[in-house]
Amino acid sequence: MELWQQMIRDSIHTVDQLVDKFKLDRTVAEGLDEFFQARINPYYLSLIRYPGDPIWLQCVPNIQELEDMEGYEDPLQEDAMSPVPNITHRYPDRVLFLTTSQCGMYCRFCTRKRKVGNSDKISMRQLESAFKYLEDHKEIRDVIMSGGDPLMLTDTMLEKILKRIRQIPHIEIIRIGTKMPCVLPHRITPKLCEIIKKYHPIYINTHFNHPWEITPESTKACEMLANAGCPVQNQAVLMKGVNDDADVMKELFNKLLRIRVKPYYLYMADETRGANYFRTSIDKGLEIMFKLRGHTSGLAIPHFVIDAPGGGGKIPILPQYVLHKDENSIILQNYKNQVYVYHEATNTNGNGKHPEFGLNNIKVEVSDKKNGSSKKPKNYKEASSVKVVQSENSKN
Ligand code: SF4
Repeated sequence: MELWQQMIRDSIHTVDQLVDKFKLDRTVAEGLDEFFQARINPYYLSLIRYPGDPIWLQCVPNIQELEDMEGYEDPLQEDAMSPVPNITHRYPDRVLFLTTSQCGMYCRFCTRKRKVGNSDKISMRQLESAFKYLEDHKEIRDVIMSGGDPLMLTDTMLEKILKRIRQIPHIEIIRIGTKMPCVLPHRITPKLCEIIKKYHPIYINTHFNHPWEITPESTKACEMLANAGCPVQNQAVLMKGVNDDADVMKELFNKLLRIRVKPYYLYMADETRGANYFRTSIDKGLEIMFKLRGHTSGLAIPHFVIDAPGGGGKIPILPQYVLHKDENSIILQNYKNQVYVYHEATNTNGNGKHPEFGLNNIKVEVSDKKNGSSKKPKNYKEASSVKVVQSENSKN
């Protein structure tokens, strides 16, 4: 048995362990075990610094899960978009392929609670209809292996699946969605990397949420994957008490870049039953994004998205940088709240000359947020509306 497998065996997962270790009331622990079982492996447990810290919140069952029955069991409607077992086909050219129900840790905020934690093993025979679907649908060029966590599969099973996918000529890229580099980095072994190298191009989507998860072990795991030729990208979830702070996010994203992981998505938490207590306001997410752009490398900034409830897919949301746009120009606010004008290519001010920089030729009407007055401010931070009432062309 490999070290990572031994650590899975040594995980905290029983009601007795929850009561002993985390002083949960036994009835509550039983209810939580019934709702969504726990799995906290010794490595992830060792990252906890104090009760209720950002690591604890992500892994230790919490009574609030039982008190929150609002939200959806399947917020992204993955099951409704599943043409055959184990496949979700939402976007035209790519699919989600669920290869296991097991994870290295069971995250309390998980969107797929209905699927994961079930100890029934998925066999190659059970995946046959999924492979057949991939073969028959020539429009699919991108397969995202997910779960559960595909790196919970044994090396043998993982290689069988990769080999089988690679036999389908129209599949161009394979992505592996895995939280193992974060929650159990010991899974990233030289042998695993050798297997992965044979089936490129393989991209790794991993999932770090807090800078404390970046340790010597997780650094080594991400570097091994990068050295094996995998672009590694991170998908984080914005969560109350875990990472709803611009400084924490900036530290996380900068540290990820240092271990060769590109911050890819920052998700608003899904409307998941039993996990609503993690949700922040949308404004909090926008505020964090505004405090990142311009204040750190563009490489460190992920797309901030809402995975639309009901299966609408990922929709990017941005802080307000565009104050106004018309056929002549766009008025933009930068990260320092300074205002700039960018002119359309066709806008030559009527005399063949390019317009001057700045707002000189544009009269702007602004409603002030505080008192509703209309005045031209130095910056537009407090503006509730901005309207161009006279632009270069209308003047001429
Ligand atoms: S690793 Fe992913 S699928 Fe597994 S419990 Fe965590 S969030 Fe859910």
